[in-house]
Amino acid sequence: MNKMKFDPASNIQMLRQFGEFGGVNPSITDSSTFTFMSAKTMLDTFHGETEGCFLYARHWNPSNKFLADALAAMEGTENAWVTGSGMGAITTVFLQLCNAGDHIVSSVTTYGGTYAFLKNYLPKFNIDVTFVDITDLDAVEKAIRPNTKMVYTETMTNPLLQISDVPSLAKITKKHGIQLVVDNTFTPMIFSPYLLGADIVVYSMTKYINGKNDAVAGAICASTAFINAISNVNDGTAMLLGPVLDPLRSSSILKNLHTLHIRMKQHSYNAMYLANEFKKIGLKYNYPGMPNHPQHELMKSMMNEQFGFGGMIAIDMETAERAAELMEMMQIRDVGYHAVSLGYFKTLFSNSGKSTSSEVPVNVQNEMGMSPGLVRFSVGLDNDIEATFQTIKSCLTDLNFI
Ligand SMILES: *Cc1c(COP(=O)(O)O)cnc(C)c1O
Repeated sequence: MNKMKFDPASNIQMLRQFGEFGGVNPSITDSSTFTFMSAKTMLDTFHGETEGCFLYARHWNPSNKFLADALAAMEGTENAWVTGSGMGAITTVFLQLCNAGDHIVSSVTTYGGTYAFLKNYLPKFNIDVTFVDITDLDAVEKAIRPNTKMVYTETMTNPLLQISDVPSLAKITKKHGIQLVVDNTFTPMIFSPYLLGADIVVYSMTKYINGKNDAVAGAICASTAFINAISNVNDGTAMLLGPVLDPLRSSSILKNLHTLHIRMKQHSYNAMYLANEFKKIGLKYNYPGMPNHPQHELMKSMMNEQFGFGGMIAIDMETAERAAELMEMMQIRDVGYHAVSLGYFKTLFSNSGKSTSSEVPVNVQNEMGMSPGLVRFSVGLDNDIEATFQTIKSCLTDLNFI
């Protein structure tokens, strides 16, 4: 692997995906079933033995294939599969890799829905989970048991914005013969987890990849063997649980993917600007692009530099009440919207403890160092971020917070 040479944006740009009649965009295939001239070809397709033949849209659809190919090009994986949500992608991977009685090691700081699935849902199948501080590599290795099937983490974790040391985690999982699964939702293009050693990369495309907040979608980027396994008609988790993405949506997401690199650069530029200003006014902030972040150097060693340190930044208002006052005022003054989710063209902010991490019990939130006053920003594509900062500052001043 040569990280310096890997350019996820150019890899997408180089794809030659045409539509019927020479359309510059691939055609949308709005068909759930496909005809066959020969009975034998249909049977072979059922057995996964035909290349380029489509059988039924829950299995594969040409529009989904175009998007999956573009995502695989972005990640450097052999293959990909697209799902109706990020949770559809994540749960498919867990259920494909684990049988009843198996064990998972997971970062304790993950997306709230993922945490809830691991903690509250998997016990139904007698699948056990050990939650660890993912930045503590010794703790990760010590948690691995003979029945452990995978280590799960987010490259940049939600909402603490910790950076997972993917190369070191990969060394541990390879040594134990288990899979490393990484959710790269916060940092598409910035990190290429597969090239850093992860086996499977999952996404909520609802966030940065689509970037419009008009759709919920997910993706699994992995080897062809794994993608064939999840879509196997007899025992594939994706084929049998059916979390497939609608082809109309795949087609709109594919077009948005082509501007992802420009958006990531602007999100990162704006978040870095805010981090520097927050520092100057003495605000307690957390941004991996600043040297005071505990994994700043690690991030630099792992990232595809040109896309910056990402658009996620957090500030600490100490109490949930103060966080609420600030967020309400910022919304009135048009800094952005008080809403969950991220990767939108407008700035979005929410209090993690009371929203996207509310599935995590308060004592666990405290243990992981999550302040009740944590306000997570997904910084938008603002053309005048200086003006945005001045508005944020006016809110802080008028509330006597600075
Ligand atoms: C939103 C999110 C998910 C879940 O994705 P959906 O598309 O909402 O199902 C998973 N992981 C992370 C990091 C997320 O931000």
